[in-house]
Amino acid sequence: LSRRVPEPCGEGEIAELARTANQTLDRLERAVERQRQFASDASHELRTPIAGLRANLEDAAMHPDDTDLNDTVRSALRDTDRLESIVTDLLLLARIGTGGLTAQEEIDLAALVGAEVRQRGSSLLSCTRMDPDATVRGVRMQLVRLLGNLLDNAERYADERVEIEVFTEESQAILRVTDDGAGIDPRDRERVFERFTRLDSARSRGAGGTGLGLAIAREIAQAHGGVLDLEDSARGARFVLRLPLG
Ligand code: ADP
Repeated sequence: LSRRVPEPCGEGEIAELARTANQTLDRLERAVERQRQFASDASHELRTPIAGLRANLEDAAMHPDDTDLNDTVRSALRDTDRLESIVTDLLLLARIGTGGLTAQEEIDLAALVGAEVRQRGSSLLSCTRMDPDATVRGVRMQLVRLLGNLLDNAERYADERVEIEVFTEESQAILRVTDDGAGIDPRDRERVFERFTRLDSARSRGAGGTGLGLAIAREIAQAHGGVLDLEDSARGARFVLRLPLG
């Protein structure tokens, strides 16, 4: 959004048009900033009472003399955990694009992916193509989070196998994650990237998802000058991240 139309000097129609376009961009930018600020403030405001709630509940859970009360307390604790993860995700979402990408470094995408896959130690995950030329500039923690969100979903929805590929194409580094699960209806392709979208609410809610994972992943991709999309695949879901080679 930060790019502006060059404004020619003088009073001509073109100059007028350029000024109007730039004013609209200014307004849009302020609106986006307000939106971010709102999400950030809301998250901060929510954190404090949640922390208080947790402390009280944990205290109550230490006195297990009343069984019914204890079930309630345990269930309230689960709710608290959930609230906490939603707030943490919202806060992250609000922060990603602000303040530019500080702490950028050169990152070997294949090495980053390899390390994450090894750490997970899941027999579902298989790296079939790991091109060492796929280097990008970025914030390591954010790219690990993006990858983590894709792998969490892939592992959750795959039947038997998740294929992970890192390669380059023209001036782009590409990460492709393909699972062999039920896949995503083409009509829902854009919707899954929206905040709080859950297509299969029972399954994803039960599995502890906040519905913010893909929104966060796409926001991180965009903050790195890249794109994250769902693409066609013979079976299951295929997520493709494209980042400029660094
Ligand atoms: P959640 O926290 O619910 O996983 P996400 O934003 O990560 O939120 O995903 C949004 C929804 O997209 C999920 O609830 C699920 O319905 C769908 N989805 C995401 N990844 C996959 C996948 N690999 N296969 C099938 N459905 C998926």
